[in-house]
Amino acid sequence: MRLVLLCCVLPTVAFAQLTEAQQREARRISELMKQDAARPAPVKLTPPEQLLKRGTVRLFVHSLPVNKPADYAAYLRFVTDEKLLQQAVDTVNELAALPRDVVVTFRDCGEPQAFYEPKSGGITFCYELVKLFDQLYTKQAKSPGEAKELIRGAVFFVFFHEFGHALVHELGLPITGREEDAVDQFATLLLLEQGEQGEAAALSGAAFFLALAQLPGKKPIFWDQHSLDAQRFYNIGCWLYGASPFRQVNLVAQGLLPAPRAAGCGDEFTQLRSSWKTIAEPKLKRPFKPLSPR
Ligand SMILES: [Zn+2]
Repeated sequence: MRLVLLCCVLPTVAFAQLTEAQQREARRISELMKQDAARPAPVKLTPPEQLLKRGTVRLFVHSLPVNKPADYAAYLRFVTDEKLLQQAVDTVNELAALPRDVVVTFRDCGEPQAFYEPKSGGITFCYELVKLFDQLYTKQAKSPGEAKELIRGAVFFVFFHEFGHALVHELGLPITGREEDAVDQFATLLLLEQGEQGEAAALSGAAFFLALAQLPGKKPIFWDQHSLDAQRFYNIGCWLYGASPFRQVNLVAQGLLPAPRAAGCGDEFTQLRSSWKTIAEPKLKRPFKPLSPR
């Protein structure tokens, strides 16, 4: 497992290279997660006939090259050939049924964005965002194949984040604190249940926020609904480490996740997983899947 960041591909660090305290901490977190897995909370799902929800998430791609920016076609091809958004849409349809259809539109927006609109219930994924992923990752990755994997991962992370907003609003899920942080949790959780490939996608999402934080001249917006880009990186990194400290040993060993935060990540991840299970599962088609061995 590697974390690819802005400037380089970091070398893998062996567990033995950690300090004794870091090793103890990783073992403690791993033990905590094992205990959590051994005590699965009973889930009371609402019977399907009582859900009374028939809505599906559908993808609409603005593919006609009318008045589109010159580079639109390249990113359109990337998204359609790779079936990225379709895969993401299939994943969420397997997880949830919503009270109404949610249309995901891939189009040009004039800025690198993705957003959910509660009024229309639509999700918009802008081609400019895929272009930004491409610009950030192509420079940093060792090969075009690696860049592609990173872009794929970031697309999945951002889509699941936006679907998290849709889930909260369409199903009326209770959220305290910042919804933006809560749906970052949801996106990480949904990716983690897809095994190591999903875990890599979540890391790509985290690396995107670090890249944004390090853009020259970028000023932090303290009043924004979102946590600062750097905080989003640390949050996602913490949850990934909390979920699988042995696979994410690099985060701590390389100093990307400072020890004072890392010490609480096992508890933090356990709490967020349990909270999402409590608030969302009764309204989903299926429970969250168990995580792969740590
Ligand atoms: Zn958001």
